[in-house]
Amino acid sequence: MSDNDNKKIILPYSISVRELAEKMDASPIDVIKVLMANGVMASINQTVDFDTAAVVVSELGFEPELLEIKEEEPEEVGEVPLWRRVIEDEEEENLVPRPPVVTMLGHVDHGKTSLLDAIRHANVAGGEEGGITQHIGAYQVEHNNRKITFLDTPGHAAFTSMRARGAQGADIVILVVAADDGVMPQTREAANHAKAARVPIIVALNKMDLPSANPELAKQQLSEIDLVSDEWDGDTIVVEVSATKMDGLDDLMEAILLVADNQNIKANPKGEVLGTVVEGELDKFRGAMATLLLQNGTLKVGDTILAGQSYGRIKAMFDYRGNRIKKAGPSSPIVVMGLNDVPRAGDIFKVVESEKQARAILSDAEGEQEAQETVQRATLEDLFERLQAGEEQELRLIVKADVQGSLEPIVNSLKELGEKQSEVSISILHQETGNITESDVMLATASDAIVIGFAVDADNAAERLAEVEGISLRKYTIIYRLIEDIEKAIMGMLEPEMVEQTIGRAKVLATFKVSRFKMAAGCRVIEGELRRNARIRVIRNDKVLYDGNIGSLKREKDDVREVREGFECGVALRQFHEFREGDLLECYTVEEEKIL
Ligand code: GDP
Repeated sequence: MSDNDNKKIILPYSISVRELAEKMDASPIDVIKVLMANGVMASINQTVDFDTAAVVVSELGFEPELLEIKEEEPEEVGEVPLWRRVIEDEEEENLVPRPPVVTMLGHVDHGKTSLLDAIRHANVAGGEEGGITQHIGAYQVEHNNRKITFLDTPGHAAFTSMRARGAQGADIVILVVAADDGVMPQTREAANHAKAARVPIIVALNKMDLPSANPELAKQQLSEIDLVSDEWDGDTIVVEVSATKMDGLDDLMEAILLVADNQNIKANPKGEVLGTVVEGELDKFRGAMATLLLQNGTLKVGDTILAGQSYGRIKAMFDYRGNRIKKAGPSSPIVVMGLNDVPRAGDIFKVVESEKQARAILSDAEGEQEAQETVQRATLEDLFERLQAGEEQELRLIVKADVQGSLEPIVNSLKELGEKQSEVSISILHQETGNITESDVMLATASDAIVIGFAVDADNAAERLAEVEGISLRKYTIIYRLIEDIEKAIMGMLEPEMVEQTIGRAKVLATFKVSRFKMAAGCRVIEGELRRNARIRVIRNDKVLYDGNIGSLKREKDDVREVREGFECGVALRQFHEFREGDLLECYTVEEEKIL
């Protein structure tokens, strides 16, 4: 053993990716790659637990060893989320039971999505409002007259960030394990995340309908990761289910309520109002929409919230079925409208006094954050700035192409480009044929890389995640353009991308003739403002009928430069006169891109 001694790496219970790399004298990128290969998405500043770090250390040829913890050291595994701390600080007498919040984790293809769908179909009262058509990333079911909230986001950004932050929003984790496949890398990883967040685990042994199901073997493997089935005198409830056949779902609900009862899951409906962002989305018509999981207090329409970097007064609120509601209590999944920007999944939100206070909190936090924020989002433009400033010497790329025949020359040219000059090295983290997928964007987010697609498209999920994360997806159809762009980025000649920004919306209330053939529209600005020198789109039934400049903008009889929210105005366009009552006008500007 002595020749191994010098290769031993002593690891604490949890360690950041950066420190882990330093310990091995390895590149953080290599560490991230090994993590990715094992299904863990972690950025350079994120921490991983010992088991995960140990896998990386072994794969890179060292021997991991757990740092001995002194007796008195508190076992600080994961950070306790803010919302939990807030509830813990509430007076006991103010706390009332709330529905448990449950999330599904597990290895890919073991049936998380199927199980969530099965539960939803089996338990949500059918027929109401024509059933559940909307998908908002969370839903509630009732079992024995008690509610259970499910976070319905496997594979999605909310899920990954929650996973990364230690199953943040959940009270209970259902670890889905396919009975025919047993414990796999992501099963272990998920179990570790749940343990780190001190969230109890129930195992759903899925696919029991398959002839190849081997529940005994799976239970054996589970006991090896400290999840010993209660049948074997352990303290983990293992429920055998089949999502496809909808078998065992009631048992699973029972198990959830049983665990919930032991956990003393409570909140103060009159206390501080806060929770976690499950999903954020930009709706073309309604602006920033956010799915929130309220964890303490009561949230009302008209309250002002601060969610990560976004804030705003709640203009409207909906339950998970899409019904308009006025207020919501703890453990409710809700959708809110009125934020100035799309918050990120995993962000904490809380009620603040006013938008002014939200801005003040943000500007206070900004200074601190600037110092901390080392993981910057990647666009070629801002990357160049960092390259120039000497903060960055490496351009990290993820390259996707339609066929191997185009992938190879692209990769080779990029490598040559890296060798041609000495300032910037080009590192290709991942190259593959096929569309740009969500996992490409996740890798880019984790490693601060840029995604390049040649003659391929990006999946919807990838586009959405890229938008939320501020990751630049660059698509090309001509190889030399691609190479030229990267070269320009390195040399600092890249033209900024032009991006659109919506500045206001107005509704057509009436139409009137201004000349024999021309019609103008009498409108009310319902959001933001209309500007005379900005561009405008006329939208009817989701179709864009006109897109161009504004001809004239009037208040009463006067020409004006802008009209703000709540005011009425007259709009005439040069090439479009067929306004109809109810048409939506969307006013926007086109500016140079600034992601950061
Ligand atoms: P996820 O990646 O964990 O969300 O897994 P999915 O829910 O997408 O399921 C992966 C595959 O397993 C799909 O083809 C499902 O149809 C299948 N599957 C899921 N649950 C069951 C089950 O209970 N029985 C059988 N036979 N197949 C299942």
